[in-house]
Amino acid sequence: MGRKAATLATINRIPFRCQVCQLDLFFRKQVKLQVTGTLSGIEWSTALICARCGYVHLFMNDAIELWAAEGGYPQG
Ligand SMILES: [Zn+2]
Repeated sequence: MGRKAATLATINRIPFRCQVCQLDLFFRKQVKLQVTGTLSGIEWSTALICARCGYVHLFMNDAIELWAAEGGYPQG
């Protein structure tokens, strides 16, 4: 597993910060959830993992976008 650079993240274009330490840099991973009530018993979610404290933020949507830290957030 290569170590990629941490990135900025937005949710619906809203800048996202760590719920614990307020850092704005994250690593993204796809996380497989075991759920009941679905045919496959599996759903995929997106995890944003804080680059500093490691807190895992789980999302069940496609609204997450990642941005290179050196480029900053998009305008508008
Ligand atoms: Zn954090």
